[in-house]
Amino acid sequence: MATPMNCRESCAVFSVSSNLDEVDVSPVIFGGLLALQHRGQESTGITVLKNGKIQTFKGLGLAIEVFNHNILKSLSAPIGIGHVRYSTYGSSDIINAQPMEFESKLKFALCFNGTIVNYEELRVELEHDGYVFKTTSDSEVIGFLISKALKRSLNLTDAIIYGMEKLRGAYSVLLLAEDGSIVVFRDMYGFRPLCVGYLKDLEAYVFSSETSGLDAVDATFIEDIPPGSINVLKDSEITRLKVYSSKHAHCMFEWVYFSRQDSTVEGVNVFSVRWKLGEKLAELNPVEADYVVPVPETSRIAALGFSSKSGIPVMEGFGVNRYALRTFIMPRDRGYFARLKLNPLKQVLEGKRIILIDDSIVRGTTSKAIVSMLRKAGVKEIHLKITCPPLIAPCYMGVDFPTSEELIAYGKSVEDIRKLIGVDSLTYMTIDYLVEAIGLPKDELCLACLTGEYPEWIKPFLGKKRAIRK
Ligand code: SF4
Repeated sequence: MATPMNCRESCAVFSVSSNLDEVDVSPVIFGGLLALQHRGQESTGITVLKNGKIQTFKGLGLAIEVFNHNILKSLSAPIGIGHVRYSTYGSSDIINAQPMEFESKLKFALCFNGTIVNYEELRVELEHDGYVFKTTSDSEVIGFLISKALKRSLNLTDAIIYGMEKLRGAYSVLLLAEDGSIVVFRDMYGFRPLCVGYLKDLEAYVFSSETSGLDAVDATFIEDIPPGSINVLKDSEITRLKVYSSKHAHCMFEWVYFSRQDSTVEGVNVFSVRWKLGEKLAELNPVEADYVVPVPETSRIAALGFSSKSGIPVMEGFGVNRYALRTFIMPRDRGYFARLKLNPLKQVLEGKRIILIDDSIVRGTTSKAIVSMLRKAGVKEIHLKITCPPLIAPCYMGVDFPTSEELIAYGKSVEDIRKLIGVDSLTYMTIDYLVEAIGLPKDELCLACLTGEYPEWIKPFLGKKRAIRK
């Protein structure tokens, strides 16, 4: 179950650029990062352009822990970018925190959300060219590619085009250059979200991974950044260059799990998708029960949708320890984490038949732990309903799904999985219903982890899934 630790995504980006020299955007960036904290809790950083110089402050932990009043004051400037980061395999070092600065003909800093699939190949190539890597992060590959092109006297936009030609994977990038421009570019498929808004009071453009980031700082949404485009913000004007046109492949998991329920991704409201998924689940394999119980937090909306359709009341089933949400102090045993995080409400659940709603099952370890806790609490029947169809293949586009063999649904029937998890019945969302609930054309969505059908360009890298090392 995708309670907090089963599948994680890497990172969120946020920037503010004001037209007014006297404006200090650092508290606004901080506010945006707080709003996007759900996308990464390992480290955070802000880079500003202060008196014509790039200046960065980064630290391990949550934005609220890394920044304080004095640090933000030291970053007082009218232009800046920020980042929150999640990584998966032992790379929560400060050296991998973002934004990262790059010395070149034009000094710049960048941060991104996504994963570069051909990282290893590009790193070898760049090392051959004399670039010395200080980190194990994809960001350094992107930065060095741009530096390399700048060295050949290309301008910044052409240098980014050079980088985009080389990069394979998912990337939504914010770059702050010493000449005062913010350059925003996104891979041609648009796997990860990225949008732009305007903050009237500060005369500032705001780029954010999610619309909830714009709302948090009172910026008005303008549009989603078109996939395959480079957007240069300079002197309060955005110039756009569409570099690539392709069928989009927006990650279905943004609506199922990653994005906040108050965000709208590619024009589709996350709350309404989760509600519809709950309603659809109520139509599939109906069973009698006393309560609909969501696994906190993501599944609450789906549970409400399920309840409204089925007439079965929603009930809180768990006490939640919100402070167990700390990735870098986490043991790898997800069952242990589930017990640390959730405690069934015995007084509510004892002797009851429940519909347990969750967003996904990845390895199944957390699911088993939760079901075992519920059984101990005396729950009579557990009917597990999952808003995401079975995950059968790894993600190469920035999401921490394990290898196929580690995925509980790989090569197994629903009945096999039901027995392994130990529930009375198990129902998954269907792919067709999921697509219908999102409402975008099926061929504009990435469904690769559900179907095992990957884009052509990824095929040379299949089976070479590496640790996501941001
Ligand atoms: S493979 Fe799955 S998780 Fe990864 S981008 Fe595609 S839909 Fe999202």
